[in-house]
Formats: sequence, structure tokens, C-alpha cells
Amino acid sequence: TPPRPRPRRTSMHETRRNGVLRDATFPQIRDTTWPVALLPFGATEPHNTHLPYGTDTILGSEVAARVAAACIARGTTVVALPAVPFGVNTTQLDLPLTINVMPSTQLAILRDVIGSLEPHGVRGLVLLNAHGGNELRALVRELQPSTSIMLAIVNWWQAADQQAFTEPGDHAGELETAAMLHVAPHLVEPHRNAWGDGRTNPSTLEGVRTGVAWMPRRWTQATHDTGVGNPRAASAESGAAFMAQAVDRIAAFCCELAMADPQRLWAPL
Ligand SMILES: [Zn+2]
Repeated sequence: TPPRPRPRRTSMHETRRNGVLRDATFPQIRDTTWPVALLPFGATEPHNTHLPYGTDTILGSEVAARVAAACIARGTTVVALPAVPFGVNTTQLDLPLTINVMPSTQLAILRDVIGSLEPHGVRGLVLLNAHGGNELRALVRELQPSTSIMLAIVNWWQAADQQAFTEPGDHAGELETAAMLHVAPHLVEPHRNAWGDGRTNPSTLEGVRTGVAWMPRRWTQATHDTGVGNPRAASAESGAAFMAQAVDRIAAFCCELAMADPQRLWAPL
């Protein structure tokens, strides 16, 4: 029998990438100042029938690594911290091995990360969110008054133009599937007919359907395959284009933040 082709490795394991803290040595970090850090927030949860549990963590880590590289190429040293692999999944606890951390736990983690960065010259911390259940604004509102580090939030999937997608989707839909086909194709179920269609059930309450009220979706009632949004039209090309634009925009923001004056974040332009 002919030798089996070696599985394609993801770019995150190919080389040590500049600005990725997980891969850096002490001298590489010690001998540079790092005015901006990126902290990806992921999740561990099912993603329809075709994407891995770690999808959000993989995508958040990859975007952070590319943003750091793009900033370093522009002359601004930005460091990508390791991702927080668990997210807020209180409405998915009946799905096997979904790992939930409470918002109050996230607050404690973020407080400790900020406390660790503060003595070392970090001026800005960008929370790079990759999971819709992570509502990070309340955390930033609570922690900003007690730190000199400028805190900012980016939802990476909202940082680029979604028009290229037929239906971007909310969870394991076309956008996220395209990004995974680009970043980690070996982790995407290869048989497209095994992908769920990501259709969802509407709320039975009119006030929720019309947007008068919001209630968290109970995943096992709202979804059929845990996905929200049809992934069928996803392609690696659309994922690459979307991610490139997101990385470019987030990198531009990080470079701005590195130079920003915390006493003059709002002023007439
Ligand atoms: Zn996801």
C-alpha cells in the first residue's frame, strides 16, 4: 500500500511566530517592550456536526497571532497572550462536555491577567473575543477604573465586512466554517453531507421574536445540530479574505492604541 499522505499541519504549529507569548523565550520577551497585549477569549462547546469543540479558541488564537505579526511588521510590538479556552456557556450545559465558566469567573481571570501585565509596561489590553456568549463589556466596565491599562474589546467576527457571505450565521455557520476551512482544514468534517444545516427554532414568545425583550437561547430547544446558520456555502477562500481584512483592521487599532494618550481618548479631532 502506498504511504498515507501526512495530515496537513496547521500554521500555528509550523514555526515559532514572533509576538506569540506561548512560543516565545524569556530573552525574546525581556529584551523588548510590549505596549499592547491581545487576550483571546474562546470557548469549548459543540459547533454543529462538522467543526471541533475548540473552534472559538483556535480562531481567536490564530487571529491574535496574525494581528501581533502584522503589528510587529509595522514597527509596533504587540504580544498575543494564550487564549482563555473556556467561555460562558450557561445555556449549553446539557450538551456533553461543554465547559462553562461563569461571567464572575471570567472577571476574576481578567483581573488577574491585568494585574500580571500592569508592572511590565503594557499600556493597552485588547480582549479579542471569539464567542458570542462572552459578554466582556461588563467586565471592562468593572475593571477599567482600577487599572491604568487601557482596556478594549474586539469581537473578531465583527471586525470585517460580512457581505461576501450568503448567510454569515451565528454559530458554526458560513463565516466560522469558512474561517476554519482556511485556518485548520484538517479539523473540519470532510464529508459536507455530514454537516448539519444549522436551522433554528424561533422563540415562542412574541416579545422575544420582535426584539422587545431578550432571553438567552436554550441551545437544545433552539437548535437541531447545535449550529446556528447554514454552513454549506463556506469556502476556504472566503474565510481567508474575511480573516485578512479582520486582522488588518484589528492590527491598525492595536497600533493606534499603542500610541494613545489615556488622558485624551476623547477630544475634538
Ligand atoms: Zn464558535
